[in-house]
Amino acid sequence: MGFDKDKIDDCTLALLYLVTHERHEGLGARAWKGFDWDTLNRLHEKGYITNPTGRAKSVGMSEEGFLRAKELFERYFARKATVVPLPKLTVDARKRWNQIPEPDRIEIMDNVFCGQCHGGASMQLREGKMAGRSLVLSGTCKKCGGEVARVIEPTE
Ligand SMILES: [Zn+2]
Repeated sequence: MGFDKDKIDDCTLALLYLVTHERHEGLGARAWKGFDWDTLNRLHEKGYITNPTGRAKSVGMSEEGFLRAKELFERYFARKATVVPLPKLTVDARKRWNQIPEPDRIEIMDNVFCGQCHGGASMQLREGKMAGRSLVLSGTCKKCGGEVARVIEPTE
């Protein structure tokens, strides 16, 4: 198996950030060194850590190494915030939508047809408007992110 050693180095360096201790601002830090030996040697050659040889269970990190480790750690492992925008409904669409009892509204949202999934799916409501006396709801499929819509016919 061929693999990208620089990527391994970056990920290892990122994980070293997780096991740093004795941080000295401007002077780097120390990190536990239970990682692949060859990788640690390459990180040493790149100037990020001190020579990993020796009995100490931790290795010194240069200031540059520590800062790069922190940056890589945040890049690879930070949890991405998923912002779900509030649905936009026109005033009359919202009025019509609110006339529908909540259990029925949930039922409607959970039973839309998604062309990409070729079947039933749940909708993430994005917008609603009236088309004549029908309420047209549109949004995205919770499974695939594709466009879905539902038309609610007038009741009487
Ligand atoms: Zn879908």
